[in-house]
Amino acid sequence: MVYRQLANYQTMKLTYEPVIGLEIHGELLTNSKMFCSCSADYASAPEPNVNICPTCTGLPGAMPTVNKKATELAALVGLALNCSINKHNTFARKNYYYPDLPKGYQISQYELPIAEKGWLDVIDSSAPSEAEAQSKRIRVRRVHIEEDTAKLAHEKNYALVDFNRAGVPLLEIVSEPDMRSVEAALDYATKIRAILRYLGVNSGDMEKGVLRFEANISVRPIGSDELRTRTEIKNLNSFRALVRASQYEIERQIKIYEDGSEVMQETLGWDDVRGVTTSQRSKEDAHDYRYFPEPDLPPLQLSDAWIDSIRKQLPELPEAKTARFVKDFELKQSEARFLTSEKSLADYFERVLSISKSPAKTIHSWIAGEFMRYLNDSGLSVDDAALAPETLAKLIDMVTDKTIGASAGKTVLVELFKNGGDPAQIVKEKNLLQMTDVNAIQEIVTKILNDNPKEVDEYNAGKETLFQWFMGQVARATKGKADPNTAKELMTKGLKERKK
Ligand code: ADP
Ligand code: MG
Ligand code: ZN
Repeated sequence: MVYRQLANYQTMKLTYEPVIGLEIHGELLTNSKMFCSCSADYASAPEPNVNICPTCTGLPGAMPTVNKKATELAALVGLALNCSINKHNTFARKNYYYPDLPKGYQISQYELPIAEKGWLDVIDSSAPSEAEAQSKRIRVRRVHIEEDTAKLAHEKNYALVDFNRAGVPLLEIVSEPDMRSVEAALDYATKIRAILRYLGVNSGDMEKGVLRFEANISVRPIGSDELRTRTEIKNLNSFRALVRASQYEIERQIKIYEDGSEVMQETLGWDDVRGVTTSQRSKEDAHDYRYFPEPDLPPLQLSDAWIDSIRKQLPELPEAKTARFVKDFELKQSEARFLTSEKSLADYFERVLSISKSPAKTIHSWIAGEFMRYLNDSGLSVDDAALAPETLAKLIDMVTDKTIGASAGKTVLVELFKNGGDPAQIVKEKNLLQMTDVNAIQEIVTKILNDNPKEVDEYNAGKETLFQWFMGQVARATKGKADPNTAKELMTKGLKERKK
């Protein structure tokens, strides 16, 4: 992944370490908005300002009501992140003025969020050893419900406002400042996105803005446990932006300390084109928002039975699935992690595995290799893959039982993706059956050895790298169809026999 290249600050990190806390905003996939019955599906609205009513446009006297589904989804996320659910939780007004906020305040949760005090284990790939990289526990401070703002379109000397998004249910997930590297922050953000997708509460389509990150960053000398002044980078809309902005900000702050100055607490934007953070405003504190309890909404009272019923809806999450794949299928951690990164991918793998006679490792390498390469190259997701698990299982088994060679298998896979069909039929049509007949392969090997006495002598005189060349000749003569193990064996024997 491109964002793994964190070379620059690696050199400095011996003396300073970053301290990172993330705030993640994700819209909740509900039919209606958070506090009114307008459609929340602003993406497919035919035109601006059609999914609106007095409540979500902030008309005086309009009364909010709580979206039940949104509270269920919020609790589900809280439970998935190992939080405790506050049976009594409250809404608050966060007051500020901006043209995308018609009421002049946002309804949010402040003193008593729906969920708090959870955690998520992440991998810090910047750690010096694999053992140290494993399982850093990041505390989740809180998960709370709020509402999204309207959308502004800035024209030359005026701006347009579209209230279709105003009041869409929004979840905020706030971590403690527990991350000590950009890599850990990236893994945390990646895992949160995966969990939200597993739960079906958010599509994770970052380019559509349904999931946004804010990075709070400070740096301190290694070994110190002080929390120094932090800056907050707003509205990071991709993993790449999260990584680049954090890296830039870490270096900027280190330079400030190295120059003997102090970091100022402020809110920053990220300029993706110039690759710099820019100052937006000196950071407001909580008291600037004049939070107070929302008088139009009663507290949410959640019963144990209700919480239990939500807990029962929790699916097997990526962490647990990974552990199961490692244990049951004898996959490596990294292999299992890859397969469980998306629920649809994990499901696909398990379907193929249940049908195929090939080992899990083989199926993993087909899916992680050729299968993903094809999807990535054609910009498709697993769900779009027009290749039934049954068909892929059949193909992989043909390679496993040596009906065809691995390279022929790849040819068939591409054909299946492009035009569909049956693997056995394609093998027949394209004449791809593997040569397993020992006599036939022997004939070809003997001919190659007889035709190339000079290379045979050179090999036998010690130039062992020529072996690959000989195998290349076999591949050429058989169009890659010779069983490689048999060919290798016969070639080794033939060369030895000709040793003078
Ligand atoms: P608020 O936004 O209400 O002022 P905090 O300042 O406590 O709340 O925290 C906001 C976010 O900033 C949290 O994700 C927290 O982990 C992170 N954070 C707080 N202090 C620091 C710090 N010194 N360095 C880095 N991140 C911090
Ligand atoms: Mg904040
Ligand atoms: Zn409305």
